[in-house]
Amino acid sequence: MEYIRPTNLQELFQAVADFPDAKIMAGGQSLLAMMKQGILDPEVIVSLRGVGELNAIDKSDDGTLTIGAMVTHQRIAADPIVQSVAPLLSETARRVASVQIRNLGTWGGNLSHGEPGADPPGSLIAVGAQLELQSADGHRFVPVEDFFLDYLTTDIQPGEVLTRIVVPPQPPGNKTIYAKHTVRDDGDLAIVGIAVRMTLSGERISDIRIGINGASLTPLRATSAEQVLLGQNPSEELFERAAKHAAQQCNPLDDAEASAEYRLAVVNSLLKRCLRGIANQRPSSIA
Ligand SMILES: Cc1cc2nc3c(=O)[nH]c(=O)nc-3n(C[C@H](O)[C@H](O)[C@H](O)COP(=O)(O)OP(=O)(O)OC[C@H]3O[C@@H](n4cnc5c(N)ncnc54)[C@H](O)[C@@H]3O)c2cc1C
Repeated sequence: MEYIRPTNLQELFQAVADFPDAKIMAGGQSLLAMMKQGILDPEVIVSLRGVGELNAIDKSDDGTLTIGAMVTHQRIAADPIVQSVAPLLSETARRVASVQIRNLGTWGGNLSHGEPGADPPGSLIAVGAQLELQSADGHRFVPVEDFFLDYLTTDIQPGEVLTRIVVPPQPPGNKTIYAKHTVRDDGDLAIVGIAVRMTLSGERISDIRIGINGASLTPLRATSAEQVLLGQNPSEELFERAAKHAAQQCNPLDDAEASAEYRLAVVNSLLKRCLRGIANQRPSSIA
């Protein structure tokens, strides 16, 4: 097996163009597990470890947050810039696996792997993030909700690398929450994970975004529930209707960890809990 370790983006794109079948390695937490299980046997591995540009966390003057693909869960959990722009992302990173995994696993690797029960996607959908995909030929941005195409399948095309996560300025006074249901504890992938961002103008819901992990072959944006909630006054009856719409939009896996029926029941109850919790919560980030 050949191991290539580029030291900048130019070398990285060259390596990926030269070896179209190469596997990219970020933290290696999922890639190496798949290789050990014999699911993958790459002839060439291109490591992202030496590419310093992928490690940056920045905030621009207009409040846009950018997170390099090689930033680990642990850094996102603790970083003051992330906490100031989108505390939901720090809260979510703290719910991922164990500290050992959080120290090595990256958000770029997590998203590229495309695991439906991973934690970051729902929260990135809730904050309206876009992903930057770059190749030797240029770059493009994809909203997180459009990035996941099927089980363990993303929109990354041959020659492309996920380089940055871009989070727009968040609405003033928004409130956020991430809730995760697992079989045993936080160290597991989510049976269902739900992230919500809500803003109230007076009594009415003026902005709502909901991301759901683990309840379909891909993470998804609960657009139907959002439409039910937008412009309305929070109430138990409204939350009940929104939760039903969210469950109807999901098409869960039926596997050893949970039946499809159980996952749908969890979507329904967890979303109601999130909405109740958020309606009673103070703003989590004031832009
Ligand atoms: C025991 C265990 C428990 C876990 N629990 C959780 C959990 O509770 N919640 C959760 O969200 N996650 C969990 N994970 C996943 C983990 O957090 C990592 O996010 C995940 O393993 C992938 O990150 P990585 O950096 O290790 O990527 P890698 O394993 O290096 O790569 C994963 C895949 O993405 C590709 N890739 C990586 N980076 C890029 C890039 N920038 N551009 C294009 N392709 C790329 C690789 O080629 C590979 O196919 C768990 C993992 C383990 C091993």
